[in-house]
Amino acid sequence: MDCVFCKIIKGEIPSSKVYEDEKMIIIKDINPQTPIHLLMIPKEHFKGVAEMSAKQSVILGEMFKRLGELERELGLKDGYRIIVNKGENGCQTVPHLHVHILGGKKLNEQMV
Ligand code: 5GP
Ligand code: ZN
Repeated sequence: MDCVFCKIIKGEIPSSKVYEDEKMIIIKDINPQTPIHLLMIPKEHFKGVAEMSAKQSVILGEMFKRLGELERELGLKDGYRIIVNKGENGCQTVPHLHVHILGGKKLNEQMV
């Protein structure tokens, strides 16, 4: 499949990986918007929450649970913001669900 995140998961494209388990990877965004900008990506390809199976929705929940356990290790103990862009209005550019994790500084109160 011609998907940049599937290629990263398979190791066909290099990435700065900060975490990996059997269900997901967390990598550094190539174009960081904040001092810490990570992408949490399920290994199974699906475009977004509307395309997700029941099993994939359970995996997504487990990913968030794991993120909570990794906060300190990832330098996120003082807080962060998570964003999932969806579709054209959301400016999703990679059609493989991914969760942006933005932190490393106090973010703007206004989100957009
Ligand atoms: P979207 O706009 O789809 O929510 O976000 C896609 C994100 O993936 C962007 O922030 C972009 O910088 C990042 N990105 C795109 N290609 C690569 C890549 O090859 N490696 C990494 N680490 N990030 C990428
Ligand atoms: Zn993919």
